[in-house]
Amino acid sequence: MSGDVSSLDLASRDRSTDASPEVSPLGGVSALPGADAGGHGSAIGLYARATPGFDERLARTVEVLKQAAADFGPGALQSTSLGVEDMVITDLIARHGLPIALATLDTGKLHAETLALVPRIKARYGLDVEVFAPVAEQVVHFVRANGEEPMYRSVELRKACCAVRKLEPLARMLAGRGAWITGLRREQSANRADVPLREDDGQGRTKINPLAEWSWADVWHYVQQHVVPYNPLHDQFMPSIGCAPCTRAIAVGEDFRAGRWWWEQSAKECGLHATHAEPRVEPGAESESQASPPTFNAQSGAPA
Ligand code: SF4
Repeated sequence: MSGDVSSLDLASRDRSTDASPEVSPLGGVSALPGADAGGHGSAIGLYARATPGFDERLARTVEVLKQAAADFGPGALQSTSLGVEDMVITDLIARHGLPIALATLDTGKLHAETLALVPRIKARYGLDVEVFAPVAEQVVHFVRANGEEPMYRSVELRKACCAVRKLEPLARMLAGRGAWITGLRREQSANRADVPLREDDGQGRTKINPLAEWSWADVWHYVQQHVVPYNPLHDQFMPSIGCAPCTRAIAVGEDFRAGRWWWEQSAKECGLHATHAEPRVEPGAESESQASPPTFNAQSGAPA
């Protein structure tokens, strides 16, 4: 692990010793996402709360991460989306000095706020995040054949885009690894409701989901307590952040992943987590989940 930050260093930045806590001006959810008080809402202020059993879940998570390091050594990799769950895991890896490498995918379509977390992780924890990008020639070929944003035209084209920009670089990222660590949680969607702490990924590796049992409130409670850096787009009602053309803010009561590929009726998965994906869409079944043209929310500036 390069440039370790000692537990003492991190503890000194924890909320319990931080004299300048971030306080939400909202205090509770009453406005529609994307229509908050001047756009200054804080996800911490909205969501942070330790739900019953939090300490036990946190202890189990630490145990799972330590076991992954013991079982796989340098063969264990955190595949971080740079979303808030993954930022919690990165904080735990750094806090406990675990020899687990970090890597992420840069699809070429991410928000600038997402990629900005790579240098923030380096600055905060002294950890390098290896960035895997798609093969440039494949992207050029795909865009020439299908346009810059073909994902809105059909589920098949959306999945083809994900295959070029996500699945191919993910395969390179995981090559030679015995285990990968993700931020999947059971609460995120119905098809993730059975996510275990450890599972076989079907490709000969172990997939480790150390936050499987955590609630959204737990995640933000941890972020608040340990002053974990996070994507500011989470403050704009984007609980799940993917590529910019395929992510929008969600409304009160919507599913966590409702803002991902919102124009589809699919299970909101891109194939990265095949063990929790939707049933395969057969050719000819397109009309079931045919994309409709996306509209735009003029108030929030986000696709709606
Ligand atoms: S999430 Fe959207 S932009 Fe990103 S790879 Fe998939 S279809 Fe392409």
